[in-house]
Amino acid sequence: MKRFEENAGGVAKSSPLVGRSAEPTIFELSSPGRSASSFRTTGITPINPEENLPKGLLRDEPLELPEVSERDLVGHYTRLASRQYSVDLGAYPLGSCTMKYNPKFADYVASMSGLSDVHPYSPAALTQGWLELIADAEEYLCEVTGMAAATFQPAAGAAGELTGLLIIGAYQRQVGSKARKIIIPDSAHGTNPASVTLGGFEVVTVPSDSRGLVDTAELAKVLDSDIAGMMMTNPNTLGLFEIEIAEIAAMVHEVGGLMYYDGANLNAVLGVSRPGDMGFDIVHSNLHKTFATPHGGGGPGSGPVAVTERLAPFLPGPRPRRVTGTDGCDTLEWFVPECSIGRVHSNHGNTVVVARALAYMLYNGSDGMRRVSDIAVLNANWLRKAISSSYEVPFGNLCMHEFVASAASIRKKTGAKALDIAKSLLGEGFHAPTVYFPLVVEEALMLEPTETESPQTLQALADALLKIASIAENEGSAPLQMQPTSTPVRRLDEAGAARHPILSYRPESS
Ligand SMILES: *Cc1c(COP(=O)(O)O)cnc(C)c1O
Repeated sequence: MKRFEENAGGVAKSSPLVGRSAEPTIFELSSPGRSASSFRTTGITPINPEENLPKGLLRDEPLELPEVSERDLVGHYTRLASRQYSVDLGAYPLGSCTMKYNPKFADYVASMSGLSDVHPYSPAALTQGWLELIADAEEYLCEVTGMAAATFQPAAGAAGELTGLLIIGAYQRQVGSKARKIIIPDSAHGTNPASVTLGGFEVVTVPSDSRGLVDTAELAKVLDSDIAGMMMTNPNTLGLFEIEIAEIAAMVHEVGGLMYYDGANLNAVLGVSRPGDMGFDIVHSNLHKTFATPHGGGGPGSGPVAVTERLAPFLPGPRPRRVTGTDGCDTLEWFVPECSIGRVHSNHGNTVVVARALAYMLYNGSDGMRRVSDIAVLNANWLRKAISSSYEVPFGNLCMHEFVASAASIRKKTGAKALDIAKSLLGEGFHAPTVYFPLVVEEALMLEPTETESPQTLQALADALLKIASIAENEGSAPLQMQPTSTPVRRLDEAGAARHPILSYRPESS
């Protein structure tokens, strides 16, 4: 059998670890006739595909699936899993992604058979528990965000953004407006302009001022009747709270635009301030950042969109609602809002994530959620201060739940880039921060320690960052450019893996 080509998964051909990283694929472990488990005979005659299925649906050749023993199967995936850094292993200060430790009780709740064994097509009469769970999650999420109604269909933050933009479009059409432009600050996450374009709008960028906040004088210049809305996150991607948010929202509303809140940074303000009170009309939340599901963890995400009363009729459907029956008892039913933009996901979205989120919200309560944000902000400020002797933070003093340091002066003095520092942190046993984002900071290192790290872990993380800076200072960039040396793979050809991904496997013999 043929191996994946050597850059599969992005391992650079020149990497000294190509040999070491070459774990056999599950196909190479295959041996004909072997299987991981077998059932005793059931007595039911197996169907013969040739006889029982329409010809057009049959494959020309049998599907080549790996045939492995349970021992080999479990060993293979356990070995691969142990090569992976994860939120369960240690600090993961990947800014903007809120990679906090997610408590296991939420997994337990979501995997209870009363929830997990339910087919999504089951009628409402048989799935009242699920409807109630979604209705409760909606109520709590609306309380946290200051909104009136929500949909749990969007599968992630970006999907929530597109949903919100389609709602903005439907609203503008309803009020007879032809406005087609959406304002986005220059510090915005890349998904914002992408969603705007996908939603059929045009992006108008407003610059940040010397404080790293939206420049309201510049904002005033782009406001006219062609503005359909503005997308912002608050705190913004520099980890700074937009203190003029109420004024900004009033300015945008004045020209008929709607305010969209990118809730990826909600971890900073839970129980402290609400997007609805700041003047936002539409809010997405990343349940897979803030509410007990790891972001990018290989599983499904959920980006519910909550809106004001005025926009509720545009939400995707079906959504659950309570109705009082003729017997006087409350039940829940699915309904489609009257001006719904339509479905954005099959069934009711990635509901397992919603179950975890509700468990997390109930467990924490309102005081607990506030504590999440208080400590997230405290930890970020502690780390910012702890590394400030070596790393400058271009914008500001106090940050919210994350901050953006710059390696620009380190680079100037020593040649070591943000990338070298990030790779060196892997060598120190931590996950890297987000690098080169947001674009408004040169050599950006975006650090979000989250509330789940202890003071000891924060100290160790700060010590590692200071050690890396001092190596650069004393020995130049060369030792950092070698890093990481202790991870299963070293520097990857990320561009190659993205541009020319090899996603399928063909055995040599066929
Ligand atoms: C993560 C993130 C998004 C996109 O969310 P996904 O769930 O990854 O699609 C949008 N904006 C910001 C600021 C983010 O951090």
